Amino acid sequence: ISLIITNSAPRIAISGVIGNPVGHSLSPMMHNYYGEALKLDYIYVPCNVDDDKVGEAIRGAYALGFEGINVTVPHKQRVMEHLLEIDDAARCIGAVNTLVRMEGGYKGYNTDADGLYRAIMGHGINPEGKDCLMIGAGGAAKAVAYMLMKHGAASVVILNRTMDKAWTLAEEMNRQFGRETIKAMALEDYGKLEKEHYLAFQTTSVGMYPKVGHAPIEDTAFYKKIQTAVDIVYTPAKTRFMELVEEAGGQAVGGLDMLIYQGIIAFELWNPGVIVTEKMVDTVRQMMTERLNNR
Ligand code: NAP
Repeated sequence: ISLIITNSAPRIAISGVIGNPVGHSLSPMMHNYYGEALKLDYIYVPCNVDDDKVGEAIRGAYALGFEGINVTVPHKQRVMEHLLEIDDAARCIGAVNTLVRMEGGYKGYNTDADGLYRAIMGHGINPEGKDCLMIGAGGAAKAVAYMLMKHGAASVVILNRTMDKAWTLAEEMNRQFGRETIKAMALEDYGKLEKEHYLAFQTTSVGMYPKVGHAPIEDTAFYKKIQTAVDIVYTPAKTRFMELVEEAGGQAVGGLDMLIYQGIIAFELWNPGVIVTEKMVDTVRQMMTERLNNR
């Protein structure tokens, strides 16, 4: 993709994604489709940025007139020191995935938590008052835990292979929200879970393409305790974890809609007043599914 920037050309809004690598990112396809469908003069470009060049990249993007920037792995924390302001939710989650241009620099947001909430509500899944379970305590798990706290989960247990990380995440969220909603447990202690009919969130990378066919827990007894589950992994469309939930009689939803809605929230932040319709969401879902199937 080449960009020609001149003084006389009509103004085109430029946004993009920085990460390392970004070649696999589905965001350019998604954003450029919305721009086209809504007839906006808008272009979205993928930019590979080395780990030690994040500050330079942000300053360069500002000078080039980028209206907004998505930030993906591994720069979601590192980028925070190069921003003018950080939204409260992003600060609480400890990661920024969306930058919005303001006078003199960018403000950082995290659209993963709201994206996940919109996605699950679209599937009729409301965490309010529910006993929830999370597997994993990595970067994405922070946004999941934040979403569950924000939307009134009754209780949350975080199971993680590295117990310390589960404990730190639980403690941090409980402190931020001023209530003891989240407990931490080691992954192998899943047999000690006290409740039934959990709303479960699979947030580890286990089972993600190309290492498909694996789940972080294989024991069918565990899956009998799950009523509804969300696997935030979006490729493959049906993970081993989702299969195990369904085999035990539960409902399982994959992570593609979370990815789509976090992008829509960023798009809305950059284009205030613009509405992405459900029909456009359906088209994007289809385009992304085709792309993922044809790798
Ligand atoms: P991360 O920060 O690297 O965290 C990985 C998590 O997976 C950790 O909890 C890690 O446990 C656990 N894990 C890895 N291998 C494991 C194994 N063999 N057994 C048990 N646990 C294991 O990764 P992330 O950024 O949170 O991403 C996690 C997944 O979420 C990825 O597949 C990513 O694509 C997906 N994701 C989806 C969306 C979306 O929009 N749908 C958004 C963000 C992320 P330890 O702490 O013990 O290492």
